[in-house]
Amino acid sequence: MNPAAIRAALPADVAGVMRALRTAGFGAYVVGGAVRDALVGRTPADWDLATEATPDQMRIIFPNAEYENRFGTVGVPTEAGIVREVTTFRADGASSDARRPDSIVFLQRIEGDLARRDFTINAMAFGLAPESSRRLDPVTDSALIDPYGGAEDLAAGIVRAVGDPAERFREDALRMLRAIRFAARFALTIEPATAAAIQRDAGLAARLSGERIGAEMDGVLAAARPALALQIAYDLGLIAAIAPALAADWADEIPKRVESIGGAAGTPAYDPLGRLAELFAQIVDDEDVAATLESWRRPRATIHEIRTIRTIDRMSNEAELAGGGRARAIDLRIAAAIANGDARDAARQLRRRIATGRASACATSMLAACEAADADALPAAAHDLAIDGDLLVAHCGEAPGAWVGELLGQLVIDAAHGRVPNTADALLSRAAEVRRSSLP
Ligand code: ATP
Ligand code: MG
Repeated sequence: MNPAAIRAALPADVAGVMRALRTAGFGAYVVGGAVRDALVGRTPADWDLATEATPDQMRIIFPNAEYENRFGTVGVPTEAGIVREVTTFRADGASSDARRPDSIVFLQRIEGDLARRDFTINAMAFGLAPESSRRLDPVTDSALIDPYGGAEDLAAGIVRAVGDPAERFREDALRMLRAIRFAARFALTIEPATAAAIQRDAGLAARLSGERIGAEMDGVLAAARPALALQIAYDLGLIAAIAPALAADWADEIPKRVESIGGAAGTPAYDPLGRLAELFAQIVDDEDVAATLESWRRPRATIHEIRTIRTIDRMSNEAELAGGGRARAIDLRIAAAIANGDARDAARQLRRRIATGRASACATSMLAACEAADADALPAAAHDLAIDGDLLVAHCGEAPGAWVGELLGQLVIDAAHGRVPNTADALLSRAAEVRRSSLP
């Protein structure tokens, strides 16, 4: 835990912004996540800077600064073609929505700005105060400002709230989920007083917006070590707050299973959907899973993919019980054609599930059957048939109606399973047979 690690990782254009602030007589610090990440040798996602210069003053120092928001953040475009965010030191006012401060005030010193931050590991700064000698270089001479012992907590593997944890979570309930996300990313545990406060107020997380909950859970599932963090989230009552259906069917092996799927973001095995599906694997009803994902405002495509994964798992488990995969593979292609408009999606999805190591033993033979069916262009949807609805209507001599689609669906199943050849004659005579038998 050495400031030299930050110095070494600091991009040149960020150093340039720090120098410009300093030359103008202001303090300049790297703050928050970048300091934390650099200290553990991880490449920071973004390099946030903080200064006592106000947005107006920054616009004089950086004439091409782009943007200002009411939290005092200015975007400085640098020669690296990146916009670096510089935020005026600030304190947050009270919050009436348990999420965002109602007002902010600009501050003169970094210490006040660090005090508003959520956890000690996120409340460190790297830089030089304006009152330090003018001869010092703003980068090579910079030091770690760490009033809450964040570096020590990071080394010891602890998430600890800055200040009174209960107060901090009531100000902003999202912090409870952030604690879990950081625990998952860095394999941390939660300090007892911080954990106790979460346990007491976990219910507040239910009031967060679905988007925010979903984004934090994405972060947990994309992390290197989600298992322990998920267990903590369950034990502290956060899972019950954000996903009651999951809490109701919770099983102790869920966290480890989730972690065993794929890998963290940035690794070749990264499989966020596989992990998400695993998180809910214990829940029997697809609709409960979809409702939870909808409450987290997950994209339609995600909800859809999770449904597909569950269908594949269910079908391959059934196939295994039935001692054979081919018939289920054919059904799976038809299901994929209906759900995703492409029968070849069945093989694609099976391959993905097999790669996670969580598919049933039968999945491999189902995959072979799907691939063979793809190669033979076996029908899986109405448009694969040698006849269409118009021909069917003409042949049966009846008024068009819902029966046309239903009958085509039935013919697809029959043709796919080889019960009738995919030729116009065979299909039409089969259709007539089915129609006759269904008439009163
Ligand atoms: P990541 O690597 O995921 O971006 P981060 O720590 O940089 O993690 P950000 O959301 O980018 O997280 O926030 C930057 C910094 O702002 C944090 O490190 C923390 O100091 C502060 N911060 C962010 N959200 C909150 C919050 N809800 N409450 C208090 N401080 C916060
Ligand atoms: Mg960040």
